[in-house]
Amino acid sequence: MARSPHVTVRVDLRHIRENVERIALQTRVPIIAVVKADAYGLGADRVVPAIAELVDSFCVFSLSEARVLDLWCLTGRSCLVIGPPTLADPQEYLAAHVRPAVSTAAQARELKEAHPIVCVDTGQQRFACPAAEAASVISEGASDEAFTHATNLAQVRALRQAVGGMVSRMHAAGSSLLGEPEAFLDAVRPGLALYRGAVRVSSSLVEVRKSTGPAGYSGFESDHHGVILAGYSHGLRPGPCLVNGRPARVLEVGMQSAFIQTDAADRAGDEVVLLGDSLTERQVADAWGTTPQEVLVRLTGTGSRQYVE
Ligand SMILES: *Cc1c(COP(=O)(O)O)cnc(C)c1O
Repeated sequence: MARSPHVTVRVDLRHIRENVERIALQTRVPIIAVVKADAYGLGADRVVPAIAELVDSFCVFSLSEARVLDLWCLTGRSCLVIGPPTLADPQEYLAAHVRPAVSTAAQARELKEAHPIVCVDTGQQRFACPAAEAASVISEGASDEAFTHATNLAQVRALRQAVGGMVSRMHAAGSSLLGEPEAFLDAVRPGLALYRGAVRVSSSLVEVRKSTGPAGYSGFESDHHGVILAGYSHGLRPGPCLVNGRPARVLEVGMQSAFIQTDAADRAGDEVVLLGDSLTERQVADAWGTTPQEVLVRLTGTGSRQYVE
């Protein structure tokens, strides 16, 4: 799909590098940078080279993502594929310098030559082996590394309990546990924390008017309102925005346009910021009733991208 000329997604690669440097200083363990889903919509082809020298390795969901990015050729860094293995041939993984995550003894046996990494279930109950089976999956695949998807310290402890001493590298923490030193183990696997604050999504008012009464489909009321050419199809929902730097509201969203709360001084052509500047992923996520990760992929999905090196 062609990217919309009416929505600008500006990705600050320097800010992403600063985020990585901050995580490195704070955790002092290797960083496995999660760049799945096109780096949460920011463009993995640009994000990956920008941070490659600062990270230990990369993590994507599928072998095909790693291949499309050609991560090994681009960076010389290996890549963990966390989704369920889709190919049983270890050579396919070796050729791409990709290490598959495995969660059953059968997968571990099949992919042994590809140096599989064992995913242990500590509560997530998805693509992971029960803790009681971890030892046998590790030995089937001759694995030296295991991880879990943890959102609390009890899950980190459960991983250590299940595989501590059996592997030379364990990791558990995504972005939500970067404030918990006990969760760092031998590496951290942040996604969101790499991208926070690095994206600015904006559009501009194509009309402004003084309202003559209840407006739009929903009959919203506002003294003045304007319209932008961004809507559901661009991932937008009603919620906060900034108009000429001032906090305002996305009042109502349609398929390809949205009504914006404006005031008498705003003019057609003025900028509306949908994410970025003083408007954080968290603020938008709270207003939308979702996660910052979803806000990023939705709002970056269809706009024209610009990169700040
Ligand atoms: C997506 C993912 C992460 C990163 O999650 P964030 O919360 O965005 O940091 C880490 N580990 C696994 C296994 C994941 O699937």
